Amino acid sequence: MRVSVIGAGLGGLALAQGLRGAGIAAEVYERDPGIVARFQGYRLMLDPIGFQAVRDCLPARWHPLLDEIVMEASAEQLILDPQLNEIGRLGAARTGIVVDRQVLRHLLLTGLTVHTDAALTGYELPADGGVQAQFARRDPVTADLLVGADGVTSAVRGVLSPHTVPTDTGVRFVIGRTPLTDEFAGLSKAYGSKIAGDGVSLLLGAMCFRTPPKHAAERLAPEVELPDIGDYVRWAMILPPNGSPADLTAQESVLSRMDGWHPQLRALIEQADPDNSTLLSIRVVEPGARWASGPVTLLGDAIHATSPTGGNGANTALRDADLLRRCLIDADEGRRTLLGAVDDYERQMFGYGAEAVRSSLEKLPAFAPVAVTEVDQGFGRLG
Ligand SMILES: Cc1cc2nc3c(=O)[nH]c(=O)nc-3n(C[C@H](O)[C@H](O)[C@H](O)COP(=O)(O)OP(=O)(O)OC[C@H]3O[C@@H](n4cnc5c(N)ncnc54)[C@H](O)[C@@H]3O)c2cc1C
Repeated sequence: MRVSVIGAGLGGLALAQGLRGAGIAAEVYERDPGIVARFQGYRLMLDPIGFQAVRDCLPARWHPLLDEIVMEASAEQLILDPQLNEIGRLGAARTGIVVDRQVLRHLLLTGLTVHTDAALTGYELPADGGVQAQFARRDPVTADLLVGADGVTSAVRGVLSPHTVPTDTGVRFVIGRTPLTDEFAGLSKAYGSKIAGDGVSLLLGAMCFRTPPKHAAERLAPEVELPDIGDYVRWAMILPPNGSPADLTAQESVLSRMDGWHPQLRALIEQADPDNSTLLSIRVVEPGARWASGPVTLLGDAIHATSPTGGNGANTALRDADLLRRCLIDADEGRRTLLGAVDDYERQMFGYGAEAVRSSLEKLPAFAPVAVTEVDQGFGRLG
């Protein structure tokens, strides 16, 4: 069986790793000109299902490395004012496994065949079976199955399910990271807490590696090359529609909302790493009607993009990858047909994927400044 995976995000790479581990030929095609062509290094909170899914897609010999580059995090769920005084609580603490997306992506890339500068433009279904993927700047590729793991703007979805389109919530999201120095140790009470300002909330989360990822790889799996990054604080602010003048940088947008805030909080934003700070739009994709199963399918944000306030987009993409991997292994080993395997995957994925989008949207008002009155009712799961 030959599988073409479109998109080198977490979902596509996890699937390709899982298939490679089972001896199934899988190649990945990525639109970006290089693997680290743009900002991708934010912290993710994985739940037990998402973490187990990525673990199962990776070779067992890398499990000790995976365990070394994550951190168990507990969010206190305090509400603090901009001077860092506690003004409320948001219920019981929650826990999860925290991982840096860029570090995880490097681990997932190891040993895979990934073609960069390969933007898919469409595909055709030849009369003699299989699927032929077409690209902007490279020759077409034929496979038995094409998997669109190409994110919220998926070109594969554009052909397979053209009526399923992203919705822009209008809410903007500024995210960044700042090296975790002694200066910010005093903010520890604020990690996992909500700092409630006048119409905005700032969310902080620490990423503390058990061992710096590069060193952990050198010791535990020398064939894996991980980025040389240290501990950091991830900060995030959600802005209402039109809440950020277009000419401001990500950092300036946040600082413009922090007049009179505690100097440590302002310093945290001022000292952010500009290459890893960005303004994003919150767009969602709700899975619509199912298509007739065939040699093309979708996974991850391509078919169920959630709001980051749900903290479940990566978890769900990884769950898809693991489920599809298992279905395809069954087909490869002759226990079912390829189309039966894809159908089984899609039936399950549509159910939990739609639920993931719904629950992430339910949590959005607790973060969006337009709904400040609901602040006390919830606390999303942003990693
Ligand atoms: C700030 C932020 C914080 C988040 N925090 C969490 C969290 O704590 N927990 C959690 O579970 N989720 C979280 N998420 C969501 C999570 O990051 C995404 O849901 C997840 O990365 C989706 O993975 P994916 O593989 O489906 O798509 P993506 O990671 O978007 O990958 C898609 C890939 O396809 C490529 N591509 C696009 N078009 C084409 C094309 N035409 N041809 C070839 N390649 C193409 C893209 O360049 C990209 O590399 C967060 C998201 C954000 C933005």
